[in-house]
Amino acid sequence: MSRGGEHEIVVIEGDGIGQEVIPAAVAVLQAVDEVGFSFTEKQAGDDTRDQTGAALPETTYEAAADADATLFGAAGETAADVILPLREAVGSFVNIRPARAYPGVDALQPETDLVFLRENTEGVYSGHEDRLSEDLSTLTRVITTSASEQLAEYACSYVTERSIDGFHTVHKANVMQETDGRFRDAVSRVAASNDVATNEVLMDAFATRVCLNPTQFDVVVCPNLAGDVLSDLAAGLVGGLGLLPSANIGQTNALFEPVHGTAPDIAGDGIANPSASILSAGMLLEYLGETDAATNVQMAVESVLNSGPRTPDLGGNASTEAVVNAVIEQLSSH
Ligand code: ATP
Ligand code: MG
Repeated sequence: MSRGGEHEIVVIEGDGIGQEVIPAAVAVLQAVDEVGFSFTEKQAGDDTRDQTGAALPETTYEAAADADATLFGAAGETAADVILPLREAVGSFVNIRPARAYPGVDALQPETDLVFLRENTEGVYSGHEDRLSEDLSTLTRVITTSASEQLAEYACSYVTERSIDGFHTVHKANVMQETDGRFRDAVSRVAASNDVATNEVLMDAFATRVCLNPTQFDVVVCPNLAGDVLSDLAAGLVGGLGLLPSANIGQTNALFEPVHGTAPDIAGDGIANPSASILSAGMLLEYLGETDAATNVQMAVESVLNSGPRTPDLGGNASTEAVVNAVIEQLSSH
């Protein structure tokens, strides 16, 4: 917990470009003069498994559980063994994934500005797979009323606090009548009891509608897998995975990570786009109640996205380091 006004942040770079974009985000947080942090580095991921035998050492799990907040990069083939328990370590029940198009960045849909509130504990991610025969494999899908209600309560506070007019619920309850039917009913019950307006959209219809006209959506509440897939789709609408941050929020703790993975094709080249990670650090500041600092970080990233330098994924030729330095320069000019 916080000591002497400092926020205790656990930093887990993980694998691939996590080792490039997370140091970038930490450098930006260190440049935020008005907020004090103490950073503790912890290990997880493929490299950690190779060195220690465990992809997620107990000490890393405990540190994330005890920290004020955790900043995480990405894990390679051990991703499921790392991020699922880490989300559990912080008791996270919702994954917030904003997808915004930014001025200056080429986007398929430049008006996009929406946020996914993704259920973060169940669906197919907590179900288990079985190989029943040479020909047959199965997967169970877990949906509980309690997790669906907890997500919906969060969604109601989220839109109410921001004066947003309701949210969309995405599901496929016409086919998965028992599981997504339970999800849909729980969400609409909670919304009704909070006087929050909701619209329902079938998952497949949502995919088309968001591509054609993303401005019809603002806050989108969805089950786990749908949120995973549809937020990557939205990344495509706004200019790529290098731009999307995320927050895993729990009752007393939280973990922040870019939506992208380890990007093995560019790892080690020093050209990864640090925006997603820096924006995740911005969400961390907001979560810690450091609202001004959060706004400043967000604005600094937006300003650099608009004027450059830009990394190759955004059509530029700048290094990660050049972008980070430009963001820090913007921060200190305020
Ligand atoms: P993983 O299995 O770890 O998810 P992946 O091959 O799916 O790895 P992602 O990290 O999900 O890779 O990214 C998909 C593609 O998007 C990458 O090949 C990479 O080119 C691009 N990409 C993702 N993140 C970034 C980033 N921060 N900067 C630049 N390009 C990125
Ligand atoms: Mg990926």
